[in-house]
Amino acid sequence: MKTRSLLRYVVSLAFAAVAILVVANAVGAQRGNVDWAAVGLSTHHVAGTVHYLEGRGGNIGLSVGDDGVIMIDDQYAPLTDRIVETIRGLSTAEIKWLINTHVHPDHTGGNENFGNRGVPILAQDRVRLRLAATQPEAALPVLTYSEDVTIHLNGEEVHIVPVPPAHTDGDSIIHFKDSDVIHTGDMFRTVAFPVIDRNNGGTLAGTIEALGIVAGMAGANTKIVPGHGVVSTRDDVIEFRDMVITVSDRVRELVEQGRSYDQVVSADPTREFSGKWGDPQRFLTAVYAELGGQ
Ligand SMILES: [Zn+2]
Repeated sequence: MKTRSLLRYVVSLAFAAVAILVVANAVGAQRGNVDWAAVGLSTHHVAGTVHYLEGRGGNIGLSVGDDGVIMIDDQYAPLTDRIVETIRGLSTAEIKWLINTHVHPDHTGGNENFGNRGVPILAQDRVRLRLAATQPEAALPVLTYSEDVTIHLNGEEVHIVPVPPAHTDGDSIIHFKDSDVIHTGDMFRTVAFPVIDRNNGGTLAGTIEALGIVAGMAGANTKIVPGHGVVSTRDDVIEFRDMVITVSDRVRELVEQGRSYDQVVSADPTREFSGKWGDPQRFLTAVYAELGGQ
């Protein structure tokens, strides 16, 4: 009898353990558990001193030369050591500056690690304010700005330009003037409709304006590195901006007619664009809200 009850006890313990594992896995999956060791990291030369590093999260821009390395954005904390190792494949020079294009964690997740390594972080004033709400001191930009800043490094003028609230209210674009490359952060992406993060101060009008600023800064041969997606041209940025203007004009007209969000969706204001930029739902929701739809 004693053996049997012990056996039953062991069996029920085993079931409990399996149940806990199943629940833990489900929770892990919901949190987007990532096998960080399996994330592939690669660098691509863009032009002149500029490369970009692809991994998980926003494209990391890199200016590499004798004076040191400038980094734009840093993806996620669990990738920091491997990101540094990958940069070492291009240059053993010191990482002199890290610029955050905006606050999102797929662009700033490595900040604390880089801060602790002594790399000074630059960003718009508002990026520091927003990060400070959740992040430790080491993760915060130590040099913040509300107007243009230029870094002179690697024989390059690196022009950092804060733009009006677009993807968020802390967006910057970075123009490597001598290499003729612009890193846009997330206001421009080649893989989806614009993300206008209204919770972090992003705006539709600012998105259109910021894309115009990028197009105005670029020449016909300028290489444009988006926050997400592939290296593009000024024409690609203009096409993207014109799409945003066309869709917002259509939605504005429907809002003025008092149409509901569902009616706007039925009118299919992204009709000829969805084939290229995918599911418009998040974009349309933001555009509709911003244009006063209710
Ligand atoms: Zn973003």
